[in-house]
Amino acid sequence: MDDHARSTELPTREEFDLPLSFAQQRLWFLDQLEGAGSAYNIRLPVRLCGPLDKDCLERALNDLIARHETLRTRFVSQQGEPQQRISASLRLSLAVRDVAGLSNSELSQALAEAAAKPFCLSRGPLLRAWLFRQNADEHVLLLVAHHIISDAWSSGVLFRDLAELYAGHVESRPAVLPELAVQYADFAVWQREWLQGEALEQQLSYWRERLSGAPPLLTLPADRRRPARQSFRGGRWGLAITPELTQAMNSLARAESCTIFMVLLAAFKILLMRLSGQSDIVVGTPVAGRPRAELEDLVGFFANTLALRSHLEREESFSALLARVRRQTLEDFAHQDLPFEKLVEALKPVRELSYSPLFQVLFSLQNTPWEAEEMAGLEVSPASIDASSQAKFDLTVSVNAYNEALWCSFEYNTDLFDEATVARWAEAYAMLLNAIVEDTSKSIVEYPLAEPAAVKQQLRDFNASARPFDLDEPLADLCQRGAVLNPDGLAVRCRTQSLTHTELHKLAAQLAIALARAGAREQVVVAIACTRSIAMLTAMLGVQRCAAVWLPLDPDFPQARLDFMVADSGAGLLITDDPDRWSDYPGALCVVDDLGRPQSIQAGSLRPRAMDAPTPLAYLIYTSGSTGQPKGVKVPESAVVNFLLSMAERPGLAAGERLLAVTTPSFDIAVLELLLPLCVGAAVVLAPAECVADGEALATLFAAECIDVMQATPATWRVLLASGWRGTSGQRLLCGGEPLVPALADELRAGGAALWNLYGPTETTVWSTVEKVTGGPATISVGQPIANTQVYVLAEGNQIAPVGVAGEVCIAGSGVSCGYHERPELNSERFADDIPGLAAGRIYRTGDIGRWRADGKLELLGRQDSQLKLRGYRIEAGEVESLLTSHPAVTAAAVGLWPGPGGEPGLAAWVVTSQEVQPSALR
Ligand code: AMP
Ligand code: MG
Repeated sequence: MDDHARSTELPTREEFDLPLSFAQQRLWFLDQLEGAGSAYNIRLPVRLCGPLDKDCLERALNDLIARHETLRTRFVSQQGEPQQRISASLRLSLAVRDVAGLSNSELSQALAEAAAKPFCLSRGPLLRAWLFRQNADEHVLLLVAHHIISDAWSSGVLFRDLAELYAGHVESRPAVLPELAVQYADFAVWQREWLQGEALEQQLSYWRERLSGAPPLLTLPADRRRPARQSFRGGRWGLAITPELTQAMNSLARAESCTIFMVLLAAFKILLMRLSGQSDIVVGTPVAGRPRAELEDLVGFFANTLALRSHLEREESFSALLARVRRQTLEDFAHQDLPFEKLVEALKPVRELSYSPLFQVLFSLQNTPWEAEEMAGLEVSPASIDASSQAKFDLTVSVNAYNEALWCSFEYNTDLFDEATVARWAEAYAMLLNAIVEDTSKSIVEYPLAEPAAVKQQLRDFNASARPFDLDEPLADLCQRGAVLNPDGLAVRCRTQSLTHTELHKLAAQLAIALARAGAREQVVVAIACTRSIAMLTAMLGVQRCAAVWLPLDPDFPQARLDFMVADSGAGLLITDDPDRWSDYPGALCVVDDLGRPQSIQAGSLRPRAMDAPTPLAYLIYTSGSTGQPKGVKVPESAVVNFLLSMAERPGLAAGERLLAVTTPSFDIAVLELLLPLCVGAAVVLAPAECVADGEALATLFAAECIDVMQATPATWRVLLASGWRGTSGQRLLCGGEPLVPALADELRAGGAALWNLYGPTETTVWSTVEKVTGGPATISVGQPIANTQVYVLAEGNQIAPVGVAGEVCIAGSGVSCGYHERPELNSERFADDIPGLAAGRIYRTGDIGRWRADGKLELLGRQDSQLKLRGYRIEAGEVESLLTSHPAVTAAAVGLWPGPGGEPGLAAWVVTSQEVQPSALR
């Protein structure tokens, strides 16, 4: 590097085409891409108390500029390539602003305003100085430099040099400063020569391995949707860490042979994990990037950023995590010479304008505290400047040592987060640190992140869903309300057949008589296997009237699966319009026509058997099971009554309205489609089988039948939208069963229709939370619990997770079913009778990961198991995998979603076989 050393005043420098360092080049590109802004303005406000000599200060400032080439550098483009241009000389005058009479906050605002002025990289200068004069003895000096010529370390150098140069002028003596052997441009040239070939490859291969497969985005609980383009608007929140806690962390660090940075970082990663629900966490951290002694006295952009990745294990103790963080950090720091921009270039992460590559959260510790200094009779101290209105990342936490304590600044992107949210995180971080120094042996998900009492109160508020419904009302009676409210109004239509409420119930009563004769009575399971027609609905009502339990079967399902459900449920009676298909069935057959009128009863050898349940059941419904076979969920009548009464209020359905039913009856959401209209005197229009997957046919039906409400999974809504259909004002579109993504939500709402997001597992009766989706920047939530329903987000150890913290969604209240039919182990795994401290009663663990938003709405983040959703169908990967491995030649199998032709996801299986197997053998 010495070869490139030049004296500071070589005028020929101006004509050189000097390259930029890698870091400078990235900032230059960002400036080109995003236009001049102030996101990269480094602000240095200092308060100077005492008699100030303005002329000496101005001269010192210009000496400083003469000393450091960077302060005379600008960046020009030559055929698209940036070059450094160093001026031989540059004079800056110290602008004086009179701020006498301004309050402290007005002053700090004035400072911020001055500091926000953008720089022009090609014109320069990239350093500005103001002297804010309060009175003869009180000034604030504000230096603002573009990051492309400076960094945090440089700030120290600038002030040290400036103080000495000023003292020299005031005392009329030469300033004593270390000789500069090289300048920044020399470093840039050297870096480009050195970081090539093997040196580069060695660093690259380390980081490639460290970051391979890292998640591109850390999703913190945002208050608003991420805009397509980052605006870098920011806010700042401060957290003081007491001297006692700081000392305790220092002792902990010493005891574990690590640094306080590692303690703070490990705890911070726990916070991020708990907030995001993700366990593979990448955090950026700045390093000084001055690998050689002769660089230490320079002003320039040397700082580099490292991407520190850790995979957090839920069961792991804090001390185990700390040991890993220590080892990884040491290794990472040993490979810190690779400029971040080179790494990005090599890894080629998908470039998004909406978030920064590799990491979106930065963590730094500045533990060279500001030393209140003196500058030739002036007392120097940091001046306060208005909270930054800039945020380079989603979140930047900078910890600064300050006296014996630590000061944490949380700089956050205001596009995404509210101040209150970040304040809660700061509080949670302090709480976590306190709990950690208390005991490092707890597993990392056990540490509390909020005051338990406050969390409980919040949960009471979020779950204030009590409604005085009469849940003892028989479901059959509830479904007949429509016959009173709107007796002659349309109740159901399928193709050309229509029935009024009165007519429908007359048919249901007839069928009930036939069913009772065939053995239907209380708690007896009656299977319904009718093709899509009014018979489907008549059959449900007939079974209800017998106080029996219906088992919905979709004739389109494979016969083996239907046979399994019939056998597993012990159904001794089956209603069908297709008796030939069921000729092997051992129970009694009730054959009906397409309106559900009984045609014949064929006796069987199987005796109808009553279900074992503590309360009358409405239906038994099968859903995918992870151990190879589907499992039956026993849903009580009271749960269905509560559900329907709640839905009649929100999203609401009124007498005379029309709902288009598109769902297979073997999916529990069909209960809403088929029964809700009957409860309120509305009409259900049954989409015929050939229409349900045909967007154009559905769109035609929608218009021809003047539909007010339709419920469907996102997949079906997409099919409908693809046909050109648009919802219009006055219509209610209910979407559920799978995550609703903002793009789909926007499209569904575009024509003025009201959109609802509904969420709930089969085990808690169709839907457990609802949300009216409004436009605007809010994130998509599944809303609030329906009537008489409580939702809890539980972290490890059944701890209630506070607002914003991810955990398992658990549901209690009137919707909770009686569990799985004859699956005691699974029942005790998924259902709990009481969770200590919750007083919630019976509770179902959904396996969904979610978190509360501050407004009391629930957000879903994913699954904690391998359950999949495909066009609304719930599929346990384990069910398919165990079937595959039951083939003698298959030793291992994995199942997942895979985009099929056309981009729609399909189910894909990867199998390991011991011998060649024809794929068809595995079907
Ligand atoms: P199922 O038992 O078939 O109703 O499936 C329930 C599961 O589907 C839930 O546990 C969620 O994983 C998922 N789910 C249902 N509704 C939604 C929704 N609105 N948003 C996101 N996921 C949903
Ligand atoms: Mg459901």
